[in-house]
Amino acid sequence: MSTDISASGSDLADMIVYLSRLGQSPGRLGIGAAPAQNLTAAQWTALRYFARANRFSRTPSAFSEFHATTRGTASQTVKSLVTLGLLSRQMHETDGRSTVMEVTEAGHEMLRHDPMAELRNVLEKLAPAVRAAVAQALGQAVADLAQSRNAPVFGSCSECSHCQTDAGTSYCHCTQSLLSLREMDAICVDFQPNRNPA
Ligand code: SF4
Repeated sequence: MSTDISASGSDLADMIVYLSRLGQSPGRLGIGAAPAQNLTAAQWTALRYFARANRFSRTPSAFSEFHATTRGTASQTVKSLVTLGLLSRQMHETDGRSTVMEVTEAGHEMLRHDPMAELRNVLEKLAPAVRAAVAQALGQAVADLAQSRNAPVFGSCSECSHCQTDAGTSYCHCTQSLLSLREMDAICVDFQPNRNPA
């Protein structure tokens, strides 16, 4: 696939889909070793999602939004990871009627064999200015497509309009909760992008 600087939207769309598929495949070099080959692409996506999502978003329904799939399909994927011992269901911290999914120790061990690691390394090697430009362009494309499909955009607290930080304390006006430092980088289904002042 060429890297023509005047690539059309169609070329870019093909490139993004190909990059995503290539990044998720175990490859020929044995990246991920034996256990990685036991998971499907959907199971890997779910495992990564639950490792990165905050406490308000670690539910099968939020995962279905993130993966742009039906609740039934997302639920089956989650169930299969529970059966494999890679995810477990835990009582929600504040709402005793609902459960959240947690990545188990075996799940974290599996993530150490994530085939996506090679794609992350390749992207990490791009010059910082190029990475920033790519992030900006992809972020815009995600926001535009999500808006036209009425789908949520996932993001983290530091760029969310619901987040208020005063004197080192961060508060979420959407979930009415104090946010820990660790949570600030997690991805969230309730994220609302900050509007850039013109
Ligand atoms: S501030 Fe935004 S991203 Fe953070 S928990 Fe609240 S809604 Fe989610």
